[in-house]
Amino acid sequence: MRRRNFLIKAMQSSAITTVLPALLTACEAGNVKTDKSIIVVGAGISGLAAAEKLSTLGFEVTVLEAQEKVGGRLRSNRSLGIAFDEGASWIHGINKNPITELAQKAGMQSFHTDDEDILSYDIDGVLRKDALFSSTEDKFYDILEILMKSGSPQESFESVFNATYPHYANDRLWKFFLSTYVTFDTGDLSKLSSLLYNEGEEFSGIEKIAVNGYDTLAHYLAKGLKIQLNQQVSKINFSDNPIRVHHNGQVSEADYVIVTVPLGVLKQKSIQFLPLLPNKKLEAINNIGMNCVNKFLLTWEDVFWDDVQYVSYTPEIRDKFNYFVNVKKIHPAVNALMTFAYADYARQTETMTDAAIVAEIMTHLKDMYGSSIPEPTHFLRTRWGSNPNSYGAYSFTAVETQMSHFDEMAEAVENKLFFAGEHTEADYFSTVHGAYLSGIREANKIINLQ
Ligand SMILES: Cc1cc2nc3c(=O)[nH]c(=O)nc-3n(C[C@H](O)[C@H](O)[C@H](O)COP(=O)(O)OP(=O)(O)OC[C@H]3O[C@@H](n4cnc5c(N)ncnc54)[C@H](O)[C@@H]3O)c2cc1C
Repeated sequence: MRRRNFLIKAMQSSAITTVLPALLTACEAGNVKTDKSIIVVGAGISGLAAAEKLSTLGFEVTVLEAQEKVGGRLRSNRSLGIAFDEGASWIHGINKNPITELAQKAGMQSFHTDDEDILSYDIDGVLRKDALFSSTEDKFYDILEILMKSGSPQESFESVFNATYPHYANDRLWKFFLSTYVTFDTGDLSKLSSLLYNEGEEFSGIEKIAVNGYDTLAHYLAKGLKIQLNQQVSKINFSDNPIRVHHNGQVSEADYVIVTVPLGVLKQKSIQFLPLLPNKKLEAINNIGMNCVNKFLLTWEDVFWDDVQYVSYTPEIRDKFNYFVNVKKIHPAVNALMTFAYADYARQTETMTDAAIVAEIMTHLKDMYGSSIPEPTHFLRTRWGSNPNSYGAYSFTAVETQMSHFDEMAEAVENKLFFAGEHTEADYFSTVHGAYLSGIREANKIINLQ
């Protein structure tokens, strides 16, 4: 998987230095003395990271989580005997990435995925030459760098790209790169900012995919925490002290509240804030984009596909089942492929039946491997766009977005109401490590207030 690969390439040439938020605060050396209480709304990795840090230091922390389990977008479905990660799968760049160390502590096994171990098929089962794939890929990276100078505030990435390179816009291999290297990572090309599509920093090093489930991290952080599951927070009244948090017909009180619900949930106004949130925060919520990615896992009795880590397929429809992860490489006992849908096509899949989706995926596989390949034995899917606990997959820089909006998202309100989550990290939005770091950041703010 190549999320942000073009950024890594750019970083290699421009030697960006990454400055991580301090994981320790000044107060910690001398241990915080506190009787302060904190409610963390949401038990995703950002909420759990904050809760774990604060409760270790003696704060009275309660986590309220809407779902039946912890992890949020770290959600591993083990119904088929292997962990199918419905949300995050990869550690993007293992060097100095806080998730690398956390994964070691938590016992999350991972597998090195090699982007070069890929075969590319055109329609009618025509296997592309490696040289063509690689040279087009190089040209694609070059153009991504050139385009950064052609963007403008009101124009989407798609309109600038199509106007500048109309012949590539309709080329099936270029559509694949646009879809898998840009849309997968950033969001709908028609909404993506032509100025900010390359924003955000990345860790260097190889990419690793979780083997025994990304939720292993969440379970590790959750150990010993006071977590109430199936608690839908509907209102946060911070007009007085203590703050009153309404959930499932009850009211809980705390001195501080950390809100970690996804951007999509904030956009939907699923939680009422009293008083209203400041205008700048509301503007940030409106203007940062929330994309949609869906994942599909299919299993078979026997393998009929190539013995490589990735198979790319280049249909006319850009974001439609064009990328297959050979899960057998990660779980040798299981014959499975994982594929994806992005942006509007991802949203469209959420209105389709399982049978209709399998039929579409099989059309692609039959085109590559012949019409006699067997039907899958099992099928799993996600519906991130309509999921009421996220309303989308992760945030991205839309045409209306300014990078300062991510900082606005992270601003505390009256030093009582704090915000964490992937959408609050200007440098690392849309990732697990960004979400984790945001939780630590907000915990530090509260510690520093003591
Ligand atoms: C399909 C997909 C693929 C991804 N792939 C990768 C990847 O490979 N690598 C990577 O680094 N990142 C990836 N990501 C992004 C990564 O998963 C997220 O950035 C990260 O997990 C977000 O963590 P969070 O704590 O900010 O939010 P979440 O994990 O969403 O946590 C928020 C929590 O709030 C809860 N909640 C929502 N509403 C309420 C409410 N009203 N009351 C109480 N609780 C509520 C939710 O149930 C959830 O548990 C992917 C995400 C998706 C969806």
